[in-house]
Amino acid sequence: LLQLAQPLNFIGFVYREIRQGLTDIEQMFELLEVEAEVTDRPDAVPLAIRQGAIAFRDVHFAYDPERPILKGISFEVPAGKTVAVVGPSGAGKSTLSRLLYRFYDIQSGAITVDGQDIRDVTQKSLRAAIGMVPQDTVLFNDTIAYNIRYGRPGATDEEVMAAAEIAQIGDFIRRLPDGPKTKVGERGLKLSGGEKQRVAIARTILKAPPILILDEATSALDTTTEREIQSALDLVSKNRTTLVIAHRLSTVINADEIIVLKDGLIAERGTHEGLLEQGGLYASMWNRQREATQAEEQLKKVREDD
Ligand code: ADP
Ligand code: MG
Repeated sequence: LLQLAQPLNFIGFVYREIRQGLTDIEQMFELLEVEAEVTDRPDAVPLAIRQGAIAFRDVHFAYDPERPILKGISFEVPAGKTVAVVGPSGAGKSTLSRLLYRFYDIQSGAITVDGQDIRDVTQKSLRAAIGMVPQDTVLFNDTIAYNIRYGRPGATDEEVMAAAEIAQIGDFIRRLPDGPKTKVGERGLKLSGGEKQRVAIARTILKAPPILILDEATSALDTTTEREIQSALDLVSKNRTTLVIAHRLSTVINADEIIVLKDGLIAERGTHEGLLEQGGLYASMWNRQREATQAEEQLKKVREDD
């Protein structure tokens, strides 16, 4: 049995090593692929960024020509305002953020930043103007300080910790065995979804971009973590042009406009109150989430009483 177990152990070991290696390779490919997807025009100029007003004009997009994802989307995010995008999973919400970052080019229509078509400017200048807090933050196998400093490589240790503080992860970092020098990621300390997201927020705070894209985590964070993350996000998005993709409707109440995406089209748009009054898709999503939250709280109470 020992003889049998050892090769199995070994295989398990190799498998784990390969898997971890693969995660890195996958990430690398993901980066390479998106780089290859779009290229700068020969006459591309740097984006002349003013306040970072965003406009999507009749945008059509498909990853695969057979299957259109966006079928004519038009909206604006005025400078310094917040627009939230909600809708069922697979509706194309994250796709909107990838298109603004120009990971892919659209089939027709236009996306502009401060009036400039994003296809006419260098990708470098476009991406320098945008801070993205993605749905699933992938951390580098390096220190937590490195992961935050990535937002602005020249930042001092003090600036890194100040950003961490605003992102509500300062205390957490100080309690780590090696403080900000603690290794994190696949081969280091594993952080929870909420912690990783706060690292991404700290990174974005350090970058201080005129435009912010927030793709909120779907993973069920507990209410305290969610509240902490929300207040961190509120701080970063203040006075910044912000596109927020929201899975939890409680986070979009204060948006200047809410867009409900469905089947590649804008099904409804308006403010939170306006949409509730309409009694359509948004209103039913809202009621469903509220019921779910209430049920969750009741369940918790029952458990606490036990
Ligand atoms: P949402 O964020 O609203 O849940 P996404 O924008 O991520 O939705 O995806 C919209 C649709 O596009 C989904 O059906 C998804 O499967 C598809 N999709 C997303 N990324 C890709 C990709 N890289 N290649 C092909 N299809 C994709
Ligand atoms: Mg998404």
